[in-house]
Amino acid sequence: MKNATSSELFRKLPSVDELMRSPQLASLTASHGHAAVTDAIRVVLGRVRDEIASGLIDERSVDLAISGLPAAVEQQLRIALGYSLRTVINATGVILHTNLGRAPLAQAAIDRIRETAAAYSNLEFELSAGERGKRDVHVDRLFQRLLADEAGAGRSARVSTIVVNNNAAAVLLALNTLAESGEVIVSRGELVEIGGSFRIPDVMAKSGAILREVGTTNRTRIADYESAINERTRLLLRVHRSNFEISGFTEQASTAELVSLAQKRGLPVMEDLGSGALFDLRSIGINGEPSVLDSLRGGMDVVAYSGDKLLGGPQAGLISGDSNLVKRMRSNSLFRALRVDKLTYAALEATLLAYVKRDHDSIPTLRMMRCSKEEIGRRAEALAAKLAAPKLRVELADGESVIGGGSAPSAVLPTRLLAVTCEGMSADELAARLRGSEPPIVARVEDGRVLLDLRTVFPEQDESVGAAIVSLTDLER
Ligand SMILES: *Cc1c(COP(=O)(O)O)cnc(C)c1O
Repeated sequence: MKNATSSELFRKLPSVDELMRSPQLASLTASHGHAAVTDAIRVVLGRVRDEIASGLIDERSVDLAISGLPAAVEQQLRIALGYSLRTVINATGVILHTNLGRAPLAQAAIDRIRETAAAYSNLEFELSAGERGKRDVHVDRLFQRLLADEAGAGRSARVSTIVVNNNAAAVLLALNTLAESGEVIVSRGELVEIGGSFRIPDVMAKSGAILREVGTTNRTRIADYESAINERTRLLLRVHRSNFEISGFTEQASTAELVSLAQKRGLPVMEDLGSGALFDLRSIGINGEPSVLDSLRGGMDVVAYSGDKLLGGPQAGLISGDSNLVKRMRSNSLFRALRVDKLTYAALEATLLAYVKRDHDSIPTLRMMRCSKEEIGRRAEALAAKLAAPKLRVELADGESVIGGGSAPSAVLPTRLLAVTCEGMSADELAARLRGSEPPIVARVEDGRVLLDLRTVFPEQDESVGAAIVSLTDLER
């Protein structure tokens, strides 16, 4: 049999119209529409044409490809019409995992998003007066309650909060408002880069403020700040180190020293807190992480923090502090560019109400943080008992969950891990297969084992994690 030329092979391919008329694709057209099916057919036929053109495919394979066209179109349609942004199961034990979308929302926040999204709302409308209102009122009252009440009567009248897109935007807005064309004094030990290209010197430059670095990487004293103050100075800035720690021969000016220097020289002092907890981390055994309240109580004039880190709410940047300073930020035209939509307010208001009601366990990230090692161990044991497959080996091991999201890198919580190996399959391959399951499961690989930390897995997901592990390792290989 002589080899078919590529033009003969091309002629074998059906046209788009012919394919459309095949019964299998006609039913797809009925459910997904003509346009989507035509697009999928073009993609699939294009792939076969490329293979013919490259000369890599013989007549037999072309016949095979043609017989498989309807199935290939169906598969292509599934990919094209499927979601790219999907939910995954986080078995990494990193509670605020930026790559996995940080904080999952509380049920109340989800309900509020749904209700607010589907209807008109009083986002910027004062119902009593029938006039235009401000969007920040919806959460400002709750922040007042959470921050001011407890900060003591003296301060309570002065704390307000505004909301922008994220903490990077909050820092940008605050620097631009308070220090454009002037100098901002920052310790060299705090010129940090947070993941995703947030760098203090770059944000400073974009804000129009001039960075005045003082001290050294490991030691900065209050005297360093003091001697850098001049007539161009507008602000003292403290930045939470977030994703690293320095130890050894180190020194950092205390909040009290910064606040008293700022007061003496009539300057505002701001803290980029990063994570910004609204609860006391000491209650879960983590020390040395200041909460938003700690910072304000300590005398910081302005505090900037994220909505979706330790707060456990939607992505947002929050600026809390002295009402006069916050008012200036609100009237900055940048605020208009950085503001958030009604859905963020809806989710934030519901999350803050959970704090007001002291219903911390309704906020998933807080619940995960508060979960004891024993409780996680019991779930892990129950799951391990169900994981039976010939090549599968499952052990329990002590380990550590990480809070993540720019809280102190040493902020870890003791946990129990499921350590899984499968005979004849590398740990990397097993982890890749877990990511390929539905829903995808993301786990850690360490020392040739796949480690799953149930702290960040919702209890109702335990079963699907188990089922996925068994089915992936039980395959005929
Ligand atoms: C996380 C973090 C930011 C950035 O916050 P986003 O909400 O991600 O924009 C800024 N500063 C510090 C100190 C942080 O930890």
